[in-house]
Formats: sequence, structure tokens, C-alpha cells
Amino acid sequence: SRELHLVARPTGLPGPEVYHMAERDLPRPVQGEILVQIRWLSLDPYMRGRMNDAKSYVEPFRLNAPLDGGVIAEVMESHDPGFEAGDLVLAHGPWAEYAVLKAAGAQKLPRGSRVPPQAWLSVLGMPGMTAWTGLNRIAEAKAGETILVSSAAGAVGSLAAQLAREKGLRVIGVAGGADKCAQAVAEFGCDLCLDHRGKEARELSKEIAEAAPHGVDIYFENVGGTTLQAVLPRMNTFGRIALCGAIAWYNDPASAPPASHIWMPIIQKRLRVEGFIVSDHAAHRGAFFDEVLPLVEAGKILWHETVANGLEAAPEAFAGLLQGKNTGKQLVRIS
Ligand code: NDP
Repeated sequence: SRELHLVARPTGLPGPEVYHMAERDLPRPVQGEILVQIRWLSLDPYMRGRMNDAKSYVEPFRLNAPLDGGVIAEVMESHDPGFEAGDLVLAHGPWAEYAVLKAAGAQKLPRGSRVPPQAWLSVLGMPGMTAWTGLNRIAEAKAGETILVSSAAGAVGSLAAQLAREKGLRVIGVAGGADKCAQAVAEFGCDLCLDHRGKEARELSKEIAEAAPHGVDIYFENVGGTTLQAVLPRMNTFGRIALCGAIAWYNDPASAPPASHIWMPIIQKRLRVEGFIVSDHAAHRGAFFDEVLPLVEAGKILWHETVANGLEAAPEAFAGLLQGKNTGKQLVRIS
């Protein structure tokens, strides 16, 4: 099987030099294992953090070993009573064409569903659960409030915006470029969407003030950077920030403004800021599915995919994700 290894720790944007395509013979699966052909890889911003040799809430990627993450795979050979050949599974797996996985860590996808299997990596998967958690459990969003969602055309942001609209909030998106902004309004539930590309915080902040004449009650934070600096002065007193991600700083943490620029407005406006990691909220997956699955099946929630083809396309797709080249969920299809 071919597999993609991380061979160096990047500084800045990870380029092709940090990867190596390797070949290896697979071990024979034993009892409790399944041999799978990997069909889809999920590319996620948090993987940039795992490329650094720094301890975080997930272990760093090992050097000279395959990268890994969420995958959709087809069972070729099962040594576990819970699975048979032909089953599609959601699992944690390597960036590889084939793999031997522990059956206990794989979740069988329903057969004959109208929802395509790769949706379990996006709207019904980790990004979807992240949007739902941030909105409901962290921000405690309520009808009539105004929410600002950054990366509003992304995997998490596009669902956060739609769920907020379903709940009766006024939704202001922020996204990179006119096309993404148009899509955020036409498809992803935003009442309006502001383009952050090439703008200073002051200019974006002025646009937020015009878009939200009564101020912003909730900021769904995906990016940090200019957008965070622009929204802080527009937050209402006792507003909430669901701190989900800060992708603007993943490649270059030193580019962040001084802490005083962030802390001072938080104090002055008595904001409640709560960072969260979706995996801590796994006990609430049932409530997430009860709410989101019927909306997805009924076509009331839309989601978008950006698909790169073949394992060899993963490095460029990952760099693209960190630069905003994707709309919606960034996937790699392995045929
Ligand atoms: P997205 O699909 O939103 O893709 C990333 C997007 O980030 C890009 O398309 C781009 O959109 C935007 N972006 C990149 N650089 C910048 C920048 N400098 N300034 C502003 N925006 C930028 O990814 P996900 O939906 O998967 O993830 C969104 C965020 O949520 C990330 O920060 C991620 O780390 C976080 N996350 C957190 C989880 C948790 O448990 N806390 C779980 C999952 C994700 P644009 O072109 O619009 O700028």
C-alpha cells in the first residue's frame, strides 16, 4: 500500500518537502481487525498543530510515519463479527491507500442512506459536531441574538451559520473573497457576509458596525487574526465568544497582536470567552444527530466539499486549506 509520511517539521506553510510517499506491505489482519481500502481522507486545520513537535490535546504526528486522521474506508476483509466485506466505515486511519484497523475504533455507516458517505467527515462528522457544540453548548445561542461567524464558508462555519439561522438568530458571516461571501448568503444561512481579504482590522470593524447596528452578542471564532481584532470592539456587553479555532495564527503564531489588544476589550465588555475541543463533548453526539440528521436528510442544511483526487494531492490540498483555497470541507478522494 502507498502511504504518505511526514518526514520533516515545517516552519510556516507546510510545503511538499515535509512529505514522502512510501510503499509498504500490510500486516495480516488478526482477530478484532479489519483490512480496509481507504476512500476518503479528512483534511483538518488542527493537523497543522500536529506537525509541530509540541504537546497539545492531540499527540504530534511521528516523523517517518504516515499522517493520520478521519477516514471513510471500505472493508475488504473482516476478522470481527461486527463487520463484513463491503461495509463502509468511519474511522481514524492513516493517509494511505489500504490499512489494517482495529474494528473497535470503526463505526459502520448506514447502508442505502441518501447522504453520501463522505458527509460523515463533514456535516455529520467532526466539523458538524463542532459547529453544533460551539453554538449550543458553548455560546448558548438564543433566538433574536446577533451572531458573527468567521470562516463562514468553511466546514464548521457553514454549519454554525445555518444552525444559527434555524434557531432564529441574525447571522453575519466573515469569509475570504466575494464568491465565498455570496455562497455564505445564498446557501449557508448568513443574512450578510463580509469579505476579510486584504482588509485592516479597522476597516472590517467599521463594516461589522454597519452590519450589526445593535452590536454582536456571539462571536463564533474560527480564525483569530484581523477578524478577531475587528469584532472585539463590536461585541455587546456580556457577549459570548465560542473559541473554536485561530487558523490565522497556525502557521505563524508570532504574527498575533499583543495580548493587551485582546484582553482589554474582553474586560471592558465583560465577555465570556470559552475555548472548547469537540471530543470533550462526545456524550452529546446523540443530541447533535437528533437535530442535524433530519435537517440534512430533508435538504434543509447544505454543505459543500472541496475534493482533491489521489493521495499524492493531499499535501497541496492541505496547504490550500491553510490559505483559504477550500470552500466547505476539504477532502481527499482515494479511488
Ligand atoms: P475551514 O473549512 O473553515 O477551512 C479553513 C478556512 O480558514 C479557510 O478556507 C479560510 O477561509 C480560513 N482562513 C485561513 N487563513 C485565514 C486567515 N489568515 N484569516 C482568516 N481566515 C483564514 O476549516 P474547518 O471548518 O475544518 O475549521 C475551522 C476552524 O475550526 C479552524 O480554526 C479549526 O482549527 C477549528 N476547529 C476546531 C475544533 C475544536 O474542537 N475546537 C474542531 C474542528 C475545527 P476564508 O477564505 O474564508 O478566509
